[in-house]
Amino acid sequence: MLSLVPNPAPNSSFASSEMVDSSKVHLHEAYCKRNRIKCEICQKFYDKEEEEEHAELNEKVECEFCKKDFMNDQFETHQMICD
Ligand SMILES: [Zn+2]
Ligand SMILES: [Zn+2]
Repeated sequence: MLSLVPNPAPNSSFASSEMVDSSKVHLHEAYCKRNRIKCEICQKFYDKEEEEEHAELNEKVECEFCKKDFMNDQFETHQMICD
């Protein structure tokens, strides 16, 4: 009989409501540990496969208006409010 338990991977960025077949939990957890990496810079989780793309998001950009440094992914938002 299959019993479903909540996704136990604590570092997963998947929705916590995600249900995983309990017989595959350890496999799933292993997968998450192997493939989800926590970024030291922005503390976000990213897929191992997306390491390069993620690194780009964390590149620093200087705002030409206020001369502050921003990470790429924050800069877009910043540009809308800084002038
Ligand atoms: Zn990051
Ligand atoms: Zn600015």
